[in-house]
Amino acid sequence: MVSKLSKIVHAAPMLVTLRHVFKKPITVQYPEQRRELPARSRGLHVYNPEGCLGCGACARVCPNNCIELEVSTTPEGKKQIDKFNIYIGRCMFCGLCIDHCIGKGVLSMTPEYEFCDTSREALVYGIDRLARGKGEEEEEKDES
Ligand code: SF4
Ligand code: SF4
Repeated sequence: MVSKLSKIVHAAPMLVTLRHVFKKPITVQYPEQRRELPARSRGLHVYNPEGCLGCGACARVCPNNCIELEVSTTPEGKKQIDKFNIYIGRCMFCGLCIDHCIGKGVLSMTPEYEFCDTSREALVYGIDRLARGKGEEEEEKDES
């Protein structure tokens, strides 16, 4: 009785394994192969300083304190963004900064996930890098 039960217990997982033997693998041979991620994946941020209101909501809500923002006022009384840094090395890609941003299309995320580097400083993304997006940055590197 025990041995019959034991066979059934072992057969069930084997059947699951067998079913997957004939299926297409879901893994890819990274980095030779790359999977295209959905457009709404949470990857590297893109920031548009033109529309930013300098309200600081993104910096206040960030649980990892990744966003550094400095705002001044021009002689005409307009807000000016002097500094907007994201410490990507600390970011956990929760998307809270984007959810709380009141500017229209100011802060968003891209499916870009390859931005590892050799120092923490290199992972501080300022306005120039965030405004361009990683793709354009890579193109510039290739051209030089
Ligand atoms: S995605 Fe989350 S952790 Fe990253 S900067 Fe935005 S709020 Fe902070
Ligand atoms: S929440 Fe949006 S509008 Fe406000 S400072 Fe951050 S990026 Fe700019």
